[in-house]
Amino acid sequence: DTADLHDTLTLPPVRGTATGGPATLEAAAISAWFGDHKVLDRVSLTMPAREVTALIGPSGCGKSTFLRILNRMHELVGSASLAGRVLLDGDDIYDRGRRITRARREIGMVFQKPNPFPAMSLYDNVLAGLKLNGIKAPRDGKDDLVEECLTKAGLWREVKDRLRQPGGALSGGQQQRLCIARSLAVRPRVLLMDEPCSALDPTSTRRIEETIHDLKHEVTIVIVTHNMQQAARVSDSCAFFLAEQGTPGAIVEHGPTDAMFDHPRDPRTSDYVNGRF
Ligand code: ADP
Ligand code: MG
Repeated sequence: DTADLHDTLTLPPVRGTATGGPATLEAAAISAWFGDHKVLDRVSLTMPAREVTALIGPSGCGKSTFLRILNRMHELVGSASLAGRVLLDGDDIYDRGRRITRARREIGMVFQKPNPFPAMSLYDNVLAGLKLNGIKAPRDGKDDLVEECLTKAGLWREVKDRLRQPGGALSGGQQQRLCIARSLAVRPRVLLMDEPCSALDPTSTRRIEETIHDLKHEVTIVIVTHNMQQAARVSDSCAFFLAEQGTPGAIVEHGPTDAMFDHPRDPRTSDYVNGRF
């Protein structure tokens, strides 16, 4: 029982929302610029707790930029300037006085290319999720935390007898699940995934999709994918981004995934989900 597991662990509380569980993430009128180049135009989107939201759309329409803005990652990787607000259960993560480290701890991220520490053991890779967020691993309960995170990432049974092996010894799909386990170590309330299966074979992809399905009760999930079948399989709702001829990226259509695939309202959505561009 998950509640019991949480109780036995001794993570330092994150002020306000220690293990708050899945939260609703709301982007309100997000615009973004790289220098003079506007790449997002007033994007508003609610990503409800206990759901998977898929972001789809052609390359270059601003999906990754939007995702990074959702946990303030863009402040690390570039010079995007920003207008708008991002609310985590109603609290603006950009509020003055609210720390950037808190946003990153509560809103985790998994990338396209699996990036475990290759020479570090599987065990330490999971615990590194704490260190990356400035949290010391609990003196007692490390084993439980590692098991909990690897179980949630769907990797425990495969690796429980070889936790001292290096992360780099795993297959690509296993490395990606190790990265998911690492991101879960701080018990984020939202998990952002930027094309997490694009570098993986179909079997590994299905395993990650099963993991996403199981995880959505623990953590709100937002996934960018170019794979329409994947969006249809894993997501509850979908947002279709488009940047037409030099205009900044914007959401053309958003709604329940079934409706979007079966009865798209906008002809551009229909063309995109049916592979016509
Ligand atoms: P997507 O993930 O949908 O492919 P991106 O968010 O990566 O789109 O990119 C959106 C736009 O922003 C593109 O025009 C891209 O060239 C530009 N862009 C992305 N990152 C940077 C950056 N660090 N510096 C300048 N321009 C960038
Ligand atoms: Mg991208």
